[in-house]
Amino acid sequence: MSQASESSVADTSVDAGRLEALLTRVDEASTLYESSVRRQDDALFALARVSGAKHLAVLGASPPAFDIAASIDDGRRTLFLCPCTAENARQLRSRFPWTAPTPLGRTTAIGCGDRLGLATPGHIRACRETGAVPVLAQQSIREMERTGRSPQDVLDDVTWAVFQEGYTAGYGADADHLKSEADIDACLAAGYTMYTIDPSDHVQNDADRLEGKELTSRFRALPWDALGTTPADCLDRYTGAPISVGDGERSLEVEFSPTSLKRAAVKYGAALSHTRALAEYLAEAYRAHRPDEDYDLEMSVDETDTPTRPREHYFVAAELNRLGVEVTSLAPRFVGDFEKGIDYRGDLDAFEDAFRAHVTIARSQGGYKLSIHSGSDKFSVYPILGAHAGAHLHLKTAGTSFLEALRIPARHAPDLFREMVEYAFDRFEDDRKTYHVTTNLDAIPAPADVPDPALEATYLEDNNGRQLLHITYGSLLSGDGRTSSVRERLFALLNDHEEEHYEVLRLHFVAHIETVGEMTVHERAGPASS
Ligand code: ZN
Repeated sequence: MSQASESSVADTSVDAGRLEALLTRVDEASTLYESSVRRQDDALFALARVSGAKHLAVLGASPPAFDIAASIDDGRRTLFLCPCTAENARQLRSRFPWTAPTPLGRTTAIGCGDRLGLATPGHIRACRETGAVPVLAQQSIREMERTGRSPQDVLDDVTWAVFQEGYTAGYGADADHLKSEADIDACLAAGYTMYTIDPSDHVQNDADRLEGKELTSRFRALPWDALGTTPADCLDRYTGAPISVGDGERSLEVEFSPTSLKRAAVKYGAALSHTRALAEYLAEAYRAHRPDEDYDLEMSVDETDTPTRPREHYFVAAELNRLGVEVTSLAPRFVGDFEKGIDYRGDLDAFEDAFRAHVTIARSQGGYKLSIHSGSDKFSVYPILGAHAGAHLHLKTAGTSFLEALRIPARHAPDLFREMVEYAFDRFEDDRKTYHVTTNLDAIPAPADVPDPALEATYLEDNNGRQLLHITYGSLLSGDGRTSSVRERLFALLNDHEEEHYEVLRLHFVAHIETVGEMTVHERAGPASS
């Protein structure tokens, strides 16, 4: 995607020296991010930290088409300092198209959610090293509400970070867990390229316990008009004889009795009609506003009470096909526990059996990717994911980057870290309600009792401590009252230890990607990174 007149740092070093000299005249403590330096036409562009804030620095003869905060010249050329605003991020994406997200289609990818807006360079470094394809902007509406960031803020932070790292290989932007048309509108306007529709509020988790008349009446009460079929036709399509799925070694048979079909339909029927409605709304919005662009679509039912059986997955996939909803990825609720921030809990053999069946169904029903939510830190299942679906995988992580960032205060600001732990204890019972965790608070020592050198291991290497901090991030970051100074001090500290922060993230993500294994060997789309 690089333009003919654009080049990276190698042949710009002479001008980069002049740029750095001018930056130093503005602020002696300024930093130039060397990977960001690029020449386009007659100007030099780079990201710099000046007077404590990141700016786009442009060295050129005339003012660039960015909002400019300050300028200084050395008699020959002028240095323009442009603040990292939303408008300037938009300009940057248009001038350097590789800083904008793209659809990734069925390429295996890793979702790198970042609740702070500071983690992306660490994610990029891990993906560069391993060859993995990243979704760098990935935030659920719930996370955005809890962290006080808009869809635009999330995408803009990523835009600047991609520029900072000079990462030209392309990335995705996932508007995660969308539940309404308003959610879609906000993310579409911001420029996302992947939309994850979450119809879990419409999943009927009690379907498995229904029998006889009640089951039949709930089945008959489904939104059949919206589903474009009838109860009789639905029964006809799936019952009577086993359905063979896939071929060769991986093939399997799916069998529905009238009772199991009705249960599958009751469980997922309303969710399917909701998904179809939002998918059509999205398609229409693209036709109206971004007619030349493609996008990725996911349906996620991971946040439901009961696992999605392979049979139910087949039903959902076959119905999506019948309804003409084409997904790039689908997130079932897998067997066992995918708790936040810690390894898988459950029977690995049972997981592998079910996962193989899910893979066969996904391949036979359109070849979409299986999407693994709460996918961070599941080191015991990664080899299984890689072996069966390495080329068709979407692994989403989010809160784990926040936990990794907390290593910095645990190492360098023990009092701030203790304060965060205390506040997390206060907030835990309220904040846990929307999360799937089994944290044992009694097993976590009080921070006052833990010596400085043991803080990191006690809270960040321990399942209970990790979950305590993982699910209270919203309270810790909300910036209201008691936490406002915590937020400010954490951000200042992470900026002071910027490279170390990126390094803990790089290590953590390389470990994830390499344990999955297969993620790293696939040719990636787009030009190689510079
Ligand atoms: Zn999820």
